[in-house]
Amino acid sequence: MIALKDKELFRQQALIGGSWRDASTKATVDVIDPASQRVLGTIPDMGRDETKAAIDAAAAAFKHWKTTAHAERAVLLERWYDLMRRHEQDLALLLTLEQGKPLAESLGEIRYGASFVKWFAEEARRINGSTIPSPTVDRRILVLKEPVGVCGIITPWNFPNAMITRKVAPALAAGCTVVIKPSEFTPFSALAIGVLAERAGIPPGVINIVTGMPADIGKELMANETVRKISFTGSTRVGALLMKGAADNIKRLSLELGGNAPFIVFDDADIDRAVEGAIASKFRNGGQTCVCCNRILVQSGVYDAFAEKLAGRVAKMKVGAGTEEGVAIGPMINGAAIEKIKRHVTDALDKGAKIISESEAVPEGRQYARPLVLGGATTEMLLASEETFGPVAPLFRFETEDEAIAIANGTPFGLAAYFYTENLKRSWRVAEALEFGMVGLNTGLISTEVAPFGGVKQSGLGREGSQLGIEEYLESKALHVGGL
Ligand code: NAD
Repeated sequence: MIALKDKELFRQQALIGGSWRDASTKATVDVIDPASQRVLGTIPDMGRDETKAAIDAAAAAFKHWKTTAHAERAVLLERWYDLMRRHEQDLALLLTLEQGKPLAESLGEIRYGASFVKWFAEEARRINGSTIPSPTVDRRILVLKEPVGVCGIITPWNFPNAMITRKVAPALAAGCTVVIKPSEFTPFSALAIGVLAERAGIPPGVINIVTGMPADIGKELMANETVRKISFTGSTRVGALLMKGAADNIKRLSLELGGNAPFIVFDDADIDRAVEGAIASKFRNGGQTCVCCNRILVQSGVYDAFAEKLAGRVAKMKVGAGTEEGVAIGPMINGAAIEKIKRHVTDALDKGAKIISESEAVPEGRQYARPLVLGGATTEMLLASEETFGPVAPLFRFETEDEAIAIANGTPFGLAAYFYTENLKRSWRVAEALEFGMVGLNTGLISTEVAPFGGVKQSGLGREGSQLGIEEYLESKALHVGGL
């Protein structure tokens, strides 16, 4: 049994129009604790009918919600934020149990997730339109900002709290209502914040949460014309599928998709700082992060020194259940994740890579991947072209700045990139040459509610967080006033 202080936060039903419901067929899906492999609980396995009911509930709630004062929406979001912070320990425990990441990281995610609610509560008061000088004296032109309407929110398992708040908070602040479909691997975090939204006084139907296997829920969200926008975070494969689906009734789309982040260490870098950055960027969430560095490119002059220091740190990493004290790497989300990591490592070793360092033994018989540093990686290896999504740090040696930039940009993805140098001119040159939506210069941490988050190329469309995030949920209506 899950030992939450507030037991009501563990919900095993979906939320539609203010009531907690089972699937009409009574079918359920098991949710597994990746550390123990035990069933944590079940969620309703819903389909098109329940999704349609949730969309109808969101449409009914939209009529009222879009007319509420911005200040009132702000107050409700602030209350929701306060409740998330008050219950952060319970929310973090639930997150670790269903997702696997170490408890301290889960707490970090809850605070990060809540920060979007606070940020967009503040932004709700600043949805300003504009006036435009008219070409003729007898007219006035204004731009009014209006909510897009009912939004479908589809989120992944790797950040089960923050990926939801990053979308739902700006949507609600803008005056939209939502139907959330959380990952079937990590639904309990979503349902818990649904409970807190109710307690905050957010009216029934403004937030709906539909649970279950994705295919039918996705079909209804795409086909239903009442849904005016889809905001999706997940794989590029599913993102492309949704983009095709959105074409049929011209829905707006925001897509936060996969990455393949380069992490470049130049000869003139502060090596200790670069090692710190690589640890933070590569091994957070066991490497299951869209912005985590996938390819570590190190210039020849510092390659050995960097490899040795990174290897020393990785060798000390403790692997185990996220609830255990001192654990740095929790279990991977599922068996498919373990298989992918194995496939990448085997392919790399077959093509000449060498293991420089690995952590001590991992607990047996469970879904654990051993953190390791691989030397001698090359662009022919699978891990150079696909996200490994695990605690594997491959080191690529390079000679010149141009070579590093060509390797870094040599991917269809463009989410995050990192580089380390102490040279001012190089800083600007490389920052401008990297074809990515986010660049970390001498830092491995780039996620914050105050800065735009998102990618270019096949990493997606749109931005979340910052003052740009709310624009994704607003339409601009031009009002022309004549006869003056
Ligand atoms: P996924 O694409 O398999 O699933 C994401 C969500 O889409 C889940 O809720 C899933 O149930 C749903 N889904 C799957 N098939 C669907 C369908 N046919 N119709 C509608 N919904 C469907 O991704 P994942 O494995 O959960 O997450 C990992 C991926 O997410 C990685 O590629 C990672 O890089 C990416 N990601 C990107 C960001 C970002 O901000 N760019 C953030 C986190 C994760």
